[in-house]
Amino acid sequence: MKFSRLFFLAVCSVLTLSAAVLFAAEDGQRVRPVKEEGAGPRVFLCTDLESVAGVLDSVNWCLEDGRNYEEARHLLMGEINAAVAGFFDGGASEVTVLSGHGAQALIPEELDERATMQRGTYPGTWPWRLDCGYDALAFLGQHAKAGTPYGHLTHTGNMGVIDRRVNGLSIGEYGQLALCAKEFGIPTIFSSGDAAMCDEAEALTPGVVTVAVKFGLNPDDGCREMTMEEYRRAKTSVVTLAPEAARKKIYAGAKEAVERLTKAPESFTYADNLEPPYVLETEYRPAEHGGEIRKERKEHPTSFSALMRM
Ligand SMILES: [Zn+2]
Repeated sequence: MKFSRLFFLAVCSVLTLSAAVLFAAEDGQRVRPVKEEGAGPRVFLCTDLESVAGVLDSVNWCLEDGRNYEEARHLLMGEINAAVAGFFDGGASEVTVLSGHGAQALIPEELDERATMQRGTYPGTWPWRLDCGYDALAFLGQHAKAGTPYGHLTHTGNMGVIDRRVNGLSIGEYGQLALCAKEFGIPTIFSSGDAAMCDEAEALTPGVVTVAVKFGLNPDDGCREMTMEEYRRAKTSVVTLAPEAARKKIYAGAKEAVERLTKAPESFTYADNLEPPYVLETEYRPAEHGGEIRKERKEHPTSFSALMRM
């Protein structure tokens, strides 16, 4: 039977890949699965939950015990499938969906069968297997970095971070992964989420196709005096598209991004002028640190992604 034969082959290749990954982990090498000659781009889609259309706040919608968490997961899957469809219709040969909002956020049963999903962390997670032969990085449900005025549910990693900078350049979760992609020569081609994130993305990665599905209504002066929990509740007011409207825009943007990647890859660029050595500085809210801003500093002589692993 065609199905069972295909299934068998799929299982075999997954097992082979797992074995290869395990083997490679011993010598620190990364596996690059083989792409067929002439096949379209392989897209790595990093997803988050906060900036999916319809998602209102962190406490009820984005935490696993929140009363709207399941609804948020369905909304996320609707946007993911719209993006996956757009990528494939634009010519992609493979799409891997990263469960960026924790391993539980995706709903396997609802994923477009053409895509694969990546869930969970492992030793040396960064750059999240971006260095395994992908041709493009994309984001979905992405929010703006901590401290962004009129962003929705802004934060960088967690609500306790005031700001994170690499060699003086303030970056959020978008920048953290995009700069890893840059290191491996991979363009960042698409991002959907709130309007403030779109501005952040276009500034760091000119040419990226952005799709705004909502915009926040709260100002932000850094909110240094707030506790983590106060900041979690400070940026919840929002105007959002209806889910179906958001999915249509995401589909169109994702398709355009892959089409342009094929026709004009040079149109996707990185605006930063960062050079090694890389210094990553993070400031944490004082409320959780005895009233003093806690400062963390990490440095790597050559590699940004290695710095993110530290
Ligand atoms: Zn996030």
